[in-house]
Order: sequence, then structure tokens, then C-alpha cells
Amino acid sequence: MIAIDTVLVKLASRCNLDCDYCYVYRMGDDAWRLQPKLMSERTVEALGRNLSRLVEAQGRPLSLVFHGGEPLLVGATRFAAICAKLREHLPPPVGLHVQTNGVLLSDDVIRACARYDVGISISLDGPSEIHDRHRPDRRGRKSHDAVVAGIGRVLAHPKGRSLLSGLLCVIDLEADPAGVYDFFKSTETPSVDFLYRDGNHDTLPVGKASFLSTEYGDWMVRLLDVYLADDEPIRIRLLDDMMRLILGGRSIKEGVGQDDYGILVVETDGTITKNDTLKSADGADRFAERWSVHDDLAGFVASPLFQEYHRSQRPTAAVCLACPDLKICGGGMPTHRWSAAAGLDNPSVFCADQIRLIGHMREQIATRIAA
Ligand code: SF4
Repeated sequence: MIAIDTVLVKLASRCNLDCDYCYVYRMGDDAWRLQPKLMSERTVEALGRNLSRLVEAQGRPLSLVFHGGEPLLVGATRFAAICAKLREHLPPPVGLHVQTNGVLLSDDVIRACARYDVGISISLDGPSEIHDRHRPDRRGRKSHDAVVAGIGRVLAHPKGRSLLSGLLCVIDLEADPAGVYDFFKSTETPSVDFLYRDGNHDTLPVGKASFLSTEYGDWMVRLLDVYLADDEPIRIRLLDDMMRLILGGRSIKEGVGQDDYGILVVETDGTITKNDTLKSADGADRFAERWSVHDDLAGFVASPLFQEYHRSQRPTAAVCLACPDLKICGGGMPTHRWSAAAGLDNPSVFCADQIRLIGHMREQIATRIAA
């Protein structure tokens, strides 16, 4: 049986921000309009009950991540009630986490996170001049100050430092990597996860001139140099994962390396879909047959439908299968491999970037080992 590691749960199908790169609302797919704005109590109950059975069937815990839209649009009272209900069915070691844009991180929400042991990850793209370029609210107003204030409230809570798992930053190639890194250090976050802008072979990611260009690789190389020069660094998950893979270890999250990850995405009506980012790949995020959290989840995970989707994480392009960097790169996220002509049978659109970054990483590691 495939083990599920992560369940992304959309408590709200809408968002209070209007980010210019959003794969949910800005990629021409309007399926979210058909979803209830908020997840109902009945669906939360079914989710908890059936996930509990899945955990028992697979014999290992998983992490449930509240996602959106913006999950905190449910409001602090309802958020606390949802956490309480899910904890009835899913006690630790099942992990609960919230991935939020941070604007609605009130003291009541933070108290609920502390009470029900819910880790907090906050989306923040760097200093205000970078963040506010991309993440305005729905009226075009800046959101940076509200997010930073939210981080401050989390850290001011007695359990805040253990609740804050980290920040999530979408890369802006025009930003200076050193300035972005210094800013993140100043927030006192324990870690930052950097994401490339979404795109595929038919719609190149913003800032990438061609398949062979290396703008993202160049940016990450500059970030890596700053990171390695810091004696007291904050953790950067993507760089840590890649360096660990180069040294023969394993990654801890999807995106690089060759480990398979079992991920379910749950819409507000309880429907299970594929990874959200596949929305940018011609609506390829939906299963041919509808399954939901009201069904037997172990049965769904064992179904040919899910198994085929799960296998699609693995690269099939001949160039990847023969690539000396495959163990590190992994061939890229499915959404980054997609083209209308060949489906997922392509290398990542970031192939040249990954080769550039991995090459530089290998040199840096070799230099340090030799020193
Ligand atoms: S995407 Fe490129 S770097 Fe990654 S495994 Fe495939 S060929 Fe290698």
C-alpha cells in the first residue's frame, strides 16, 4: 500500500490576497468558484474519521496541512473548533499544520494552534518592496506589515518558537538573494522554504527566457553562497535537501530527489484532487472519477486511479533517466515537466537551472571537504 505522508486540506476556497503568481486563481482555472467557500462541519467530521482509519490501515502517521485559498478565512472560533474536532480523531503523532498568508494570524488563532499543537508556516516573499509587489490584498493594498505583525504575535506567544515551523517564499528574480536572506534572518524564523515560480514547457516561468537559460539556477547559486558563508544560518529546506542528497542522504519533502511522496489534496466540499500546482498544466489536477473524504480513503489510495497518479511523480523522459544528476534533481515536479505535446514526459522546465545549481553545490562541497 502507498503510504500517505501529507494531506493538504482546503478549509476555504477563497483568499483575502490577490497574489500575481497564484496557481489557484490566476491560471485560468475557475473550478474553485464551484466549491463551497468554507469546509462544512460534516466534511470536517468525515475527514477526521476517515483519515483516522487510513492512519490505522497504513500503520504510520501523516501530516495534515490546512491550506486554501486562505484557511484562516474560516475565522478564529471555527478554526479552533475544526482543530478540536480533528484532534479527537487524529491525536499526535499525526501532525497538524496551517499554511497561511499570515494576515489573519490573531492571538485567538495562535492560542488555538498552541492548544491543539498546530504548526504554523507563513507565506512571505521577503522585504516589503519585494513582497508587496506580488502579494496585495483584494483591494490592491499592501500586506507586508500585517504579515510581519502576525509573525511577531506568533513569536510573542510562550510556545511561539516551537509553533512557527517557517516561512515560505516565492522567488522574485529581481530581488537580491543576499538582501532577501538577511531580511528573513531578521524575522527570527527558524527556516525558509524557497519556491520557484510555476510554469511549464508551454508557459515558461516568469523571468525564464528559454528552456536552456539558467536565471533561477543563477539566483539559487547566489543564495547558496550567502547561506554557506553564514556561521549561524537559518535553515533553507531546498538547499539542505539537495546537499543532503549529494552527500548520499535523503530529502525530507517532495520536489527534489527520487523518493515518492504520498499526497492527498482535499477541496472544501471534500473532493480529493491531485497536486494543486497541476492547475497550471491545463486543469490536470482532477481525477477522472470523483472520490471524496466521505469515502473509504484506504480504498482510494489502493485504487488504480491513485496508483497511476502516484507513479506520475517519477520522471519518464529519456534525458532524465540517463542524467547523472537524477538522484539529486529527481526530474522536477510534475507541473514543471508538463507540455501539451508530451504531457509529463519531459525534463523539468528548470532542468538547466538545476544542473547549474547542483554543479555549483558539488564544487562547494568538494572544496569544503578538501579544506
Ligand atoms: S530535469 Fe534535467 S537535471 Fe533534472 S533529472 Fe532531468 S535531465 Fe537531469
